[in-house]
Amino acid sequence: MVKKSKVNFFSFSQPNLPRQKEQPDRIHPPVTDRGTVPNLKWSFTDSHNRVLPAGWARQTTIRELPASPEIAGVNMMLIPGGVREMHWHKEGEWAFMLRGSARITVVDQNLKTFQDDVGVGEGWYFPAGIPHSIQGLDEGCEFLLVFDNGEFDENETFQLTDWLSRTPKEILAKNFNVPISAFDNLPKEERYIFEAPLPPPLKKDEIRGLGPVSEPLSHRMIKMKPMKMKYGSVRIMDSTNFPASKTIASALVEVEPGGMRELHWHPNADEWQYYLSGQARMTVFASAGSAQTFDYQAGDVGAVPRNMPHYVENTGKTTLRFLEMFRAPRFEDVPLAQWLAFTPPELVREHLHIDEKILKKVPPKRVPIVG
Ligand code: MN
Ligand code: MN
Repeated sequence: MVKKSKVNFFSFSQPNLPRQKEQPDRIHPPVTDRGTVPNLKWSFTDSHNRVLPAGWARQTTIRELPASPEIAGVNMMLIPGGVREMHWHKEGEWAFMLRGSARITVVDQNLKTFQDDVGVGEGWYFPAGIPHSIQGLDEGCEFLLVFDNGEFDENETFQLTDWLSRTPKEILAKNFNVPISAFDNLPKEERYIFEAPLPPPLKKDEIRGLGPVSEPLSHRMIKMKPMKMKYGSVRIMDSTNFPASKTIASALVEVEPGGMRELHWHPNADEWQYYLSGQARMTVFASAGSAQTFDYQAGDVGAVPRNMPHYVENTGKTTLRFLEMFRAPRFEDVPLAQWLAFTPPELVREHLHIDEKILKKVPPKRVPIVG
């Protein structure tokens, strides 16, 4: 007879209760969930935070979230006066200010210039390869950066101080036609994020370089007139109303309690989401009988591979706010409701065995937020 073990194996199981509470639909999925779906959730809380005296930065890239090859995100904070140093990178950069405000500066390949101060709900688009800087103003700032390539790495941007510290001093002297001693105090390595005095007030009409860029590089997304519905609102911004943003399309979605971003998919790009406030759940159908549900809250990132249909439901008691981001010049989606309503009813009935009256109620124009 086998002696009964004194070890209670269940005592080794220490569930991560705070984490379980965050994702009830992972613990007890809807019965409709099934099969294999890639991981479609990452929280910036799980990313390495690069902390410096004048700010911090953390990223969610294809390394953290392999289901997002098209978009990477960075969450950055700068103290008042804190500078994200002059730099450029291979990717286009779109931004959304989460708190505070910042001064941005740009010089482009035509030697045209751009400077602006950007507040909460506003942001910018910097084309790939164009040098820029960001500096925290009075209260400092925190913002979200969205790059048009999942492979982006915030630690591999081309930085002014890094470059010049890797260039022979006699070359610098020759370039500017000055003695080598002019570069005696050059930083010996990259500064990345550093403390500096607050900049002087912005002079809007000051001409620098060969004049201002032809298309403004900042946006005022929060000030756009939203498409309003009973259960929420949507602001869509892409190259049609923010011409500089040629590679990034976005939507700022607000869903009231009881509301839901309707069933739909995106034919032209993967979706990358950033949750600003509230709580949500999303089920993504991955074809071949597979679907899985994920829960999100503020600070989380969601991903939806292109063409996979989904909904986003407000599961909390407060307003749900999130950004839908796409590597595309235009925002595009296909809603389930109008797809069915605009197909011959006999055909739809043969598929779904539903009463024609259901589809008669579908409005001719899309209603992105339902309830
Ligand atoms: Mn940048
Ligand atoms: Mn979507």
